[in-house]
Amino acid sequence: MSTPTKQFYQVQAEKVVKAFEKRKIKAYYCATKEEGIQKVLELIPKESSVSWGGSMTLQELQLPQKLHQGSYHLLDRSLAKSPEEIEKMYHDALSCDYYLMSSNAITLDGKLVNIDGTGNRIAALIYGPKNVIVIAGMNKIVTDEAAALLRVRNQAAPINAFRLQQNTPCTVMGQCGDCLSEDCICGHTLITRMSRIPYRIKVVLIGESLGY
Ligand code: SF4
Repeated sequence: MSTPTKQFYQVQAEKVVKAFEKRKIKAYYCATKEEGIQKVLELIPKESSVSWGGSMTLQELQLPQKLHQGSYHLLDRSLAKSPEEIEKMYHDALSCDYYLMSSNAITLDGKLVNIDGTGNRIAALIYGPKNVIVIAGMNKIVTDEAAALLRVRNQAAPINAFRLQQNTPCTVMGQCGDCLSEDCICGHTLITRMSRIPYRIKVVLIGESLGY
């Protein structure tokens, strides 16, 4: 039976999917993790080159492991053996067929809001890979751009800073201190309003809570 949360997600998702369409971003809503994983795998043709950015959502869905079971050409930087190899993979990922990532926040009117320390993940979202698939739980939906910026700086980034064991003010204060510290993971903030290449960006929304 559908829970009130699921019913709410369904209603919100219908609104967001339509909003993405206006922005030439193709969006899908999947009620469960299993359906979400199936949709992502359906979207990627066999033998494609595939890479992905650091993401708890992808980890929770075990998408890297599932991709390793399929017949794809994977650029998986966790398998790199040296800093030089990691750096090369970052660059090679920018010309892959499919790049997978999540989004730190998504507005009800269909904008993707992301922060990045180094910038490799948002670089791929902006330009390079032929296709980008954004996979996100409905917990990432916020009302508008202002709420998205508050979310990324006061929830997504601090929890990620803890995960990455970074020494930043937000891990001490529990909220953003607008730092410029060496460990700052908020070097860049990106708002994606539309895709100039129609449907290069695809979004798979999942009716569950995933990632931060
Ligand atoms: S304190 Fe620094 S690292 Fe933490 S959220 Fe703010 S800008 Fe980002």
